[in-house]
Amino acid sequence: MNIGIMGGTFNPIHNGHLILSEYIRQKLNLHKVIFIPTGIPPHKDVRYVLDAHIRKEMIELAIESNPYFCLSTMEIDKDSVSYTIDTVTELKEIYSKDRLYMIIGADSLLSLHTWKGFEKLIRMTDFVVADRHGACDSDVLARIKDLNIRFGSNICRIDTPIIEISSTEIRNKIKEGLSIRYLVPESVEEYIIDNNLYR
Ligand code: ATP
Ligand code: MG
Repeated sequence: MNIGIMGGTFNPIHNGHLILSEYIRQKLNLHKVIFIPTGIPPHKDVRYVLDAHIRKEMIELAIESNPYFCLSTMEIDKDSVSYTIDTVTELKEIYSKDRLYMIIGADSLLSLHTWKGFEKLIRMTDFVVADRHGACDSDVLARIKDLNIRFGSNICRIDTPIIEISSTEIRNKIKEGLSIRYLVPESVEEYIIDNNLYR
């Protein structure tokens, strides 16, 4: 099986994550995409990150209707900071006969060198990089080429539509009392409103 891994804080999950995952799933012929929310993210100001259980529930609502999408709580079940290298090590044991593709946005690629054990990590599994607003194409291509040559990794860029949605934008909109309709699935929007999140 070909399996896509979509890791992130998902604070909250938005249509950018979903459109991207579905697009890549089709393009790479993935049998499934596993969404893995981080428990305690190493690179984010945790004051603004909602409880893992709440982020998980929003993912469940968002992916419910897609039979190819599933959720893993492997990172949020731990009390320690989530490092991708530990997650990938575990996933490779679980899916030892399958091929894993880590799906990341171009912004994540450009900060990949700050991730724990990144040299080892990029040799461990394939990476697929999606275009993202703000990350210049030539920078991304140059970085991929450099990493693949220096470390023998298999990172590739995939042509994806640019979707200018971020969780930050959604949190800011809510704070300003603006609508987030069509930026997140309707069920997620309702959940956010009902639970008075990100106010
Ligand atoms: P925040 O604004 O809080 O950083 P985010 O929208 O970047 O949130 P994350 O949960 O940090 O969402 O992202 C998880 C992964 O999805 C990252 O690899 C990120 O690059 C990618 N990603 C998120 N949104 C997009 C998008 N609109 N286009 C391409 N990649 C995206
Ligand atoms: Mg981000």
